[in-house]
Amino acid sequence: MNAAPLHLAIVGGGPTCTYVLERLAALVRGRRDPVALEIVVYDLSGEFGPGQVHSPDQTRTSYLNRVVGQVAFAADESVVDAGPLLSAVERPTLLEWCRKKFEETGDPIYDMVAEDWPKRFVHGEALRDQFNGYVEILRATEGVEVTLRQAEVVDLEERGDRFAVLTADGAPAYEADYVLMLTGHSSNRPELDPRQAHLARFAAEHEARLVPSAYPLERSLDPAYTGPGTTVACLGMGLTGIDVLLYLTEGRGGTFERDADGELHYVPCGAEPDSIVAFSRSGLFTFARPYNEKERDIASLEYKGPFLTAGAVTELRRTVGVPNVIGGAPKRQLDFERHVFPLILLEMALLQYGVQYGPEFREAAIAAARPAYEKFLADADAFADHQEAGEFLVAPVEELALAVGERVDDVLAGRTALAVHAGGGPADPESAGLP
Ligand SMILES: Cc1cc2nc3c(=O)[nH]c(=O)nc-3n(C[C@H](O)[C@H](O)[C@H](O)COP(=O)(O)OP(=O)(O)OC[C@H]3O[C@@H](n4cnc5c(N)ncnc54)[C@H](O)[C@@H]3O)c2cc1C
Repeated sequence: MNAAPLHLAIVGGGPTCTYVLERLAALVRGRRDPVALEIVVYDLSGEFGPGQVHSPDQTRTSYLNRVVGQVAFAADESVVDAGPLLSAVERPTLLEWCRKKFEETGDPIYDMVAEDWPKRFVHGEALRDQFNGYVEILRATEGVEVTLRQAEVVDLEERGDRFAVLTADGAPAYEADYVLMLTGHSSNRPELDPRQAHLARFAAEHEARLVPSAYPLERSLDPAYTGPGTTVACLGMGLTGIDVLLYLTEGRGGTFERDADGELHYVPCGAEPDSIVAFSRSGLFTFARPYNEKERDIASLEYKGPFLTAGAVTELRRTVGVPNVIGGAPKRQLDFERHVFPLILLEMALLQYGVQYGPEFREAAIAAARPAYEKFLADADAFADHQEAGEFLVAPVEELALAVGERVDDVLAGRTALAVHAGGGPADPESAGLP
């Protein structure tokens, strides 16, 4: 074991810190020669694991923007060169964590399948559990100490080979060999940001209140100035805008109810603002992600492109790559735009027309594109630019699609004629010249 312990300070105890502690836990526990290591984690909010963004105490109206099946808290067998792994029970995915929690509590909020959207506070609860689990593993490892400090780090001072970590509470500085800055999202002081300063002036002139940062919603959107009798203007219609709208409506006690026609109607509770005006440069809400069933069985349901494969990239490196050092090792460098982007265009064309015309078309299109594809792999630099290469690759797929499209149009035209006859009197397809 090293005689003097290594001192590591981590500033920010949110999700990224959780992932760092997971890697440290797996690495130090797996060592034959124990390591003396002192870790101090600072977080100004004290929300160790979830951080402020994913706080378990936040409103229940905010959702995570990922489906449950896409979230994990640790490296697993799928991560190349991850190093040692924790045991499977120590690293549940969010889905496994939710299933277990549902078994324990029976609370339907945890009754999730892979393609469900979790509430953000649920993600925060899982992060907190995982963070605590990793800290426990580290603390149980010989030579390792972990300290959690709720404090704001305000400066780092260089002292020889070390950094002194200074906190707002004036506690004696901690001298660290390494400092990891994992401070994530932070809001700026509005008076120092020219865009916000002019909003602040406007608000002052019109006796309005400017909320420079909406989070945490429970603190920023006080009912005293966002309740009945007020108008709330929401600058921005992205994910934060949606969080705000939900919080000011459902979060206040209103409900969305479906009528007999299946239409959703909002039933107010009386605690909302009188009106909410949401605006942005585009005037559009951010687009919702499509419903994603792939998470049920990634292996069989995830789309796999036949052209932009690891093998194709290896071949391109061989034929047109320029000798370089990448990640410390010699590797032949590709130019993304010239060498990779044309293959993305080909994959997109195949996917679009494959969905439009079905699996048989897809197989035929793959075969039709093959000669051009192989020519490209053999010498991608023979083309003037990515545009010329893209057109060359996509042309066989488009030609096939055009031919199939014309046939489909013919068939559809035939069906249309038949339908006119059927509706307009005694149908006689043969006399109409239809099959
Ligand atoms: C409102 C919001 C919603 C989001 N939703 C999603 C989502 O649904 N899905 C998704 O994938 N990503 C989402 N994100 C992106 C988000 O960046 C990541 O999910 C994640 O929070 C990043 O983790 P982090 O640990 O790097 O940073 P953060 O989560 O920001 O955590 C940083 C931590 O550092 C602490 N800190 C900061 N400065 C100091 C200091 N000087 N001293 C001590 N402590 C300090 C903070 O208190 C905080 O707890 C969202 C971000 C926001 C702002």
